[in-house]
Amino acid sequence: MISPGRYVQGKGAIRELGTYAKQLGNAPLIVADDLVWGFVGHDIEASLKAAGLPVRREKFNGIPSAKEIDRLVGVIKETGSDVAIAVGGGSTIDAVKAAGFLADIRWANCPTVASTDAPCSALSVIYTETGEFEEYRFFPRNPDLVLVDSQVVANAPVGLLIAGVGDALATWLEARATSRSNSKTMAGGVPTVTGTALAKLSWEVLWENAIEAVDAVKDKQVTPAVEKVIEANTLLSGLGFESGGLAAAHAIHNGLTAVPQTHGLAHGQKVNIGSVTQLVLEGAPSSDIRDFVEFTTRVGLPNTLSEVGLRADDAASLAIIAEAATVPGETIHSMPFEVSAGDVASALASIERMSAGIRERAGLPAPRPYVAADHH
Ligand SMILES: [Zn+2]
Repeated sequence: MISPGRYVQGKGAIRELGTYAKQLGNAPLIVADDLVWGFVGHDIEASLKAAGLPVRREKFNGIPSAKEIDRLVGVIKETGSDVAIAVGGGSTIDAVKAAGFLADIRWANCPTVASTDAPCSALSVIYTETGEFEEYRFFPRNPDLVLVDSQVVANAPVGLLIAGVGDALATWLEARATSRSNSKTMAGGVPTVTGTALAKLSWEVLWENAIEAVDAVKDKQVTPAVEKVIEANTLLSGLGFESGGLAAAHAIHNGLTAVPQTHGLAHGQKVNIGSVTQLVLEGAPSSDIRDFVEFTTRVGLPNTLSEVGLRADDAASLAIIAEAATVPGETIHSMPFEVSAGDVASALASIERMSAGIRERAGLPAPRPYVAADHH
């Protein structure tokens, strides 16, 4: 069971970043893209100055690729920084964790969105420069600090919170599968009951609060439901996936990144396709599948192929996804039964008609097709 050293969340928390950063080092390097820095740079600068720390910000260039990570290591060394602080989304966070580790300094995260469970973990997902999944990198430590300002998260587009709910719902489905098979988790051993229980708690908190929280964030309001969903997306799901285990849903997500049609979608949107497909692979009770499709539709998550730019009759693309999802070492092999590429392709092809039918019978909106901007 592994976890970050300290987790801080609340309205206005970003104004305390300097106080917490000072416990970690004297020369912080903030890594943030220009958009994020425009929103929070002023508060962070004031907070670092108040704590007597220098203000040094390096721009993040968008994709956590091996090249961008090596560039950040160079900046850390040149500036003599002793703690790297990611301010932004999952990509910035993954790049800074990897760079902090390679430069042998401490690292901390200040997520400005609750769109993934990346902030708390001791691993990074590395992508190619064109955005395909490349590898997981594992580190000997989790971040020393994760600090989330709930108002900053509520000010961000609601689609990011929704994507985070998709990522966090998968946590329980995957931890449940990993616990049934007693497979290894991302933390390196078989699951503790603690890791599995936190994954389940994340699921329960989301079913209770996600719809209310999404509505509140549409108006940029922080309510108790919003605080709970931010915590479920960031902390519970982070601890739950890492120490509870990943299985089919994330492997299928990784497979989806192998085709250009899905590029431009958020991580959690693609993960939700993985969750629905995992339920099909498990032969889950039809009432479980129906409830999941209805709930995720109400939250605003995709659960059909057409919503992620794919078609059930495009066997060639589905085969590429299924092959990538089942390569040796993928977390799909933590399922309590063997899963072949053919199984994944069939399950994926089945979800279009299945989910659309469930939605129609429930009087929910029909799927709206997605077309990737960079897909020709
Ligand atoms: Zn994820």
